[in-house]
Amino acid sequence: MTLPAIPMDAILEFLVGLLNTPSPTGDTEQAMTYVEQAVRDLPLSVSRTLKGGLVLTWPGDATRPRALTAHVDTLGAMVKKIKSNGRLELTQLGGYDWHAIEGEGCTIATATGQRYRGSILPIKASVHIHGTEVRTLERKQENYEVRLDAVTDSQEKTEQLGINVGDFIYLDPRVEMNVGFLRSRHLDDKAGVACIYGALLALHRAGMAPLYRVSALISNYEEVGHGASVGIPADVQELVAVDMAAVGEGQNSDEFSVGICAKDSGGPYDLSLRRKLERLATDYTIPYKVDTYPNYGSDGEAALRAGADLKVALIGPGVDASHAYERTHRDSIEATTRLMVAYLLAE
Ligand SMILES: [Zn+2]
Repeated sequence: MTLPAIPMDAILEFLVGLLNTPSPTGDTEQAMTYVEQAVRDLPLSVSRTLKGGLVLTWPGDATRPRALTAHVDTLGAMVKKIKSNGRLELTQLGGYDWHAIEGEGCTIATATGQRYRGSILPIKASVHIHGTEVRTLERKQENYEVRLDAVTDSQEKTEQLGINVGDFIYLDPRVEMNVGFLRSRHLDDKAGVACIYGALLALHRAGMAPLYRVSALISNYEEVGHGASVGIPADVQELVAVDMAAVGEGQNSDEFSVGICAKDSGGPYDLSLRRKLERLATDYTIPYKVDTYPNYGSDGEAALRAGADLKVALIGPGVDASHAYERTHRDSIEATTRLMVAYLLAE
């Protein structure tokens, strides 16, 4: 069997739009609506979990139902406190180091729907003023602040803008495509969401259908550990989580193949399902890298820890500098999408 063509242009267009739609953990509604709109012409039934996850089901043979999942929630921040100088102290959403957002542009979303722009800076940013203290300043929460693009130098003036403790802060993704490379924040896991979209679109355009009923959970709250704890139908037997492969020093993964995860911080993934995916990649000459990921968890584990009894595997595009300014390559997105299509069509 030959696999259907992968609609890379449509996948990348979808992905760039999704990357430019803010969705920090806890504020993912715009992104969910974006995904829902994108799949409206596909033969899917659409439902929502109460906590906001999107479940896309392609009906079919329910003797061995399958599921896919990828998460649309990302890193971000929230207003911790309005400081006496009018600037904002932040609290992090998701796990990252402060250096990863130093100098980044951001948007503050207020209760009334107003948007303010600003930038995230160390409290001692200027070498002219602070000299060597700039270099030695400890990277910790109290040493960072949002400098608002608004005229304010006091807590009262900032409060008058309508900004409050608990408002979400969106990090600028800075999406850019160059000679096949895609660099942006939040490729984890919007690239995975795009691969699922691409696999379903590829089948639909080719007039094909998955061999068994498949449910794709577009989850939220993955970055805080409980994304897919609900939303996988109870009768599903196999779950393929689609999330980034960790590229970097000491890793086997790269930005040009699909990563197949053997083990992460939560332990090994299901061996028989992993072997099946490796065989499919070999049979269809899809470039793949088996790897283990340190300091890493996935929605596959969230489902297992919530008590689901199913086989779980993890595949995904290779992402360099994850949870910082990330990068992948279109080849990795294509390989991941092809493997998913092969899996959906396979016995
Ligand atoms: Zn992820």
